[in-house]
Amino acid sequence: MTDLLYQTDSYLQEFEAKIISALPAERVIILDRSAFYPGGGGQPCDFGTLTVEGVTYPVTKVKKQGEDVLHFIGDDAPLPSAGSAARGTLDWARRHELMRTHTALHVLCGTVFRDYGALVTGGDMEPLKGRMDFEFETMRGDLVREIEAAVNAEVAKAREIQVRILPRAEAFQIPDLIRTKINLLPEGIAQVRTVEIVGLDLQADGGTHVRNTKEVGSIRVVDYKSKGAINKRIYIEIK
Ligand SMILES: [Zn+2]
Repeated sequence: MTDLLYQTDSYLQEFEAKIISALPAERVIILDRSAFYPGGGGQPCDFGTLTVEGVTYPVTKVKKQGEDVLHFIGDDAPLPSAGSAARGTLDWARRHELMRTHTALHVLCGTVFRDYGALVTGGDMEPLKGRMDFEFETMRGDLVREIEAAVNAEVAKAREIQVRILPRAEAFQIPDLIRTKINLLPEGIAQVRTVEIVGLDLQADGGTHVRNTKEVGSIRVVDYKSKGAINKRIYIEIK
């Protein structure tokens, strides 16, 4: 089982851990704790390195499997053995861009719900680029410009972002979480992590976010598309 350090500190760029197991055939290392984000909720996984006894190994993919985080090791050097101490270092430039992008998408989602009552049906992102699908019947150029102005106004308000881990029963009492389909969470999940852009948006979310919307930068709506009668897709870029 890997302790998920990124859940409580998304700004952790380096960390010390112990290797629980090394699987040479899969080229996977499992650590007792990790700051590497394994991907999920539309946010891609982190990249970086693990250093063990003076040797630095590239981490080219990270994935969650049950309660473990799998660190996939690039090149073909023999893997270090279980029990060794490891130092993990994230590709911080990439991770921070993904944090800005993820928060930008929550600003978009919160703003569109507040102003138009439109719910999100899906989303995806890569560093500094993202897309989100909304239940919107019609989408026009002037509406898109209106949304772009409103999301940038929210970013400029320097809203704080708060992350909490709540018991399931407590989270289910929060009306804002119910609208984001918290009821779809599998029954086995005892705790719910919530991400709140104070005054704008509250969601059950496992991703990594910036501390304050002012860190996001400026958001541009670069395109929009109809994805069926009800679904409209909005594409954004962050600068
Ligand atoms: Zn999210």
